[in-house]
Amino acid sequence: MQHTPEEFIEIIGARAHNLKNIDVSIPREKLVVITGLSGSGKSSLAFDTIYAEGQRRYIETFSAYARQFLGGLERPDVDKIDGLSPVIAIEQKTTSKSPRSTVGTITEIYDFLRLLYARGADAFSYNTGEKMISYSDDQIKSLILEEFNGKRISILAPAVRSRKGHYRELFEQIAKQGFLKVRVNGQIRDLEFGMKVDRYKTHDIEIVIDRMAIDTEEDTDKRLSESIKTAMYHGEDVMMVIEQESQEVRFYSRNLMCPSSGISYPNPEPNNFSFNSPKGACPCCNGLGTVNEINLQKIIPNPKTSIKNGGFAPLGEYKSSWIFKQLEIIAQKYDFKITDAIEDIPKEAMEMILYGGNEKFSVVSKVMGITKDYKIDFEGISNFIKNQYDNSDSASIKRWSKEFMDENNCPDCEGTRLRKESLYFKLNGKNIGELVQMDIAELSQWFADLDQHLSEKQKVIAVEVVKEITARLQFLLDVGLNYLSLNRSSKSLSGGEAQRIRLATQIGSQLVGVLYILDEPSIGLHQRDNERLIKSLESLRDIGNSVIVVEHDKDMIERADYVIDIGPKAGRFGGQIISKGTPKELLKENTITAQYLNGKMKIEVPKTRREGNGKSIKLSGATGNNLKNVSIESPLGK
Ligand SMILES: [Zn+2]
Repeated sequence: MQHTPEEFIEIIGARAHNLKNIDVSIPREKLVVITGLSGSGKSSLAFDTIYAEGQRRYIETFSAYARQFLGGLERPDVDKIDGLSPVIAIEQKTTSKSPRSTVGTITEIYDFLRLLYARGADAFSYNTGEKMISYSDDQIKSLILEEFNGKRISILAPAVRSRKGHYRELFEQIAKQGFLKVRVNGQIRDLEFGMKVDRYKTHDIEIVIDRMAIDTEEDTDKRLSESIKTAMYHGEDVMMVIEQESQEVRFYSRNLMCPSSGISYPNPEPNNFSFNSPKGACPCCNGLGTVNEINLQKIIPNPKTSIKNGGFAPLGEYKSSWIFKQLEIIAQKYDFKITDAIEDIPKEAMEMILYGGNEKFSVVSKVMGITKDYKIDFEGISNFIKNQYDNSDSASIKRWSKEFMDENNCPDCEGTRLRKESLYFKLNGKNIGELVQMDIAELSQWFADLDQHLSEKQKVIAVEVVKEITARLQFLLDVGLNYLSLNRSSKSLSGGEAQRIRLATQIGSQLVGVLYILDEPSIGLHQRDNERLIKSLESLRDIGNSVIVVEHDKDMIERADYVIDIGPKAGRFGGQIISKGTPKELLKENTITAQYLNGKMKIEVPKTRREGNGKSIKLSGATGNNLKNVSIESPLGK
């Protein structure tokens, strides 16, 4: 073997697991398939030798200081490997178990969508559905000069909007700043010493900044500029104009604002669309899209049992404990026994048992004639479980409390994970939450049509971002993931799906000179998608990478540049290279793999099938993940 390391990865003396001290040269910048029976040693060569050594060398490039945290990787059992590039393994592991990780976040498509919505989307008022507008101070001045020409106006700064309080200090403070008048609930009033309003009513209070006639004089222009600036300062970027004769009110804002109702949104930034940021996350579910709620049926599985017999499942049967003592006191107060069926316990008592209470009461004993004092200080079973789930640091307590809860779609955001205002930013009529619910094929089509629905300004803003998104969606389509949606949580992906997503992101990263190692990427793929998968691997190779695939698939083997067949059998009867070369060369050999490839051997379809036992499992209306309300019936005993 005299190859140059530029063209080949040379492996000498590989002995990991069952490998029999083998030497092998693997051509670089080619699509190479390592095949053979299960257990023959394919993965030992690909992952436990080549990938392990690549990882080890990578970590060796770190400083000694960093290495002490990483821990040294053991040298794989091999004499020498030459010509190795940086190695990236694309295995069938689900990338993240975090509930905050979705197909959209791991492919980074969601990051681009956030950018697109922050820069290019139109905001609409969640009060009136009107388009929100924001103005610069100069724009506001021109609008006022135009709309109120020849009229007298008041310029005001909102200070309090629909809030309760007496606001004595506020009035004092406004007076100290040199203002003379305020508008309280629509009435202009002079500021007086000790002024206050009814503290139990809600109020609208504005500071009167200026009153002036609008004309075309230069002085007017100057004064108006000053007053707008002052009003914006005191109104925190919002101001009001009232025409004195008609009393017509207009709002102007530097932020996005609803022109009729005056509600305003912050000027959008990408974090407003991130469910992993407090700026964007739905406050009800903290951006998880689901909330855990107590299911009373799980707490009381059988209402006919008593407290004593373990009717409250989280508590179990009666024991001498503080909780049961509290329940006995509650029973005293509401006059029932802990041996009564739970369904017979009075409603007020059930309220207290489940949701807690805090009170003292006395009972006069009929027999003894003495009074005894009791104290109820009870958190409530339902609250207790919820608090354990929310606040406990222990994973096993969390798991225990979760047994009595259901995971439901968040009622506020309906599973979109985002704040209400973030969902009122729209592009071509759709908010970002609606986009991530579409499957990738649908979404890709939506983006293809988007351009014609955008304004010229939006087109300029969107063009680069849309290009990035479309390219990434195409990579996902190329690996056969057209049916996934971006909001699909990554923990629910199968190993094969997770692997193909990683493959798609690698193609997107456009790295060159990398050695990619993949573990049976064709698993679970439809024939049609397998063809696309092979094309993706070929394109990784064509931009200048080496690709090694551990694979049984016939199409993949036939399309490889080079095939290494490991065998002849599994375990200690394997671990040897039984043939290598181009697929054509391989066909001439008399190996099991060659026989399958050239059709000498095949897996026969049995002529008679088993009868089955006539029973079946029925599944109706399945809607999990990408299932579209599927019903199936599967016979048993077959
Ligand atoms: Zn929510």
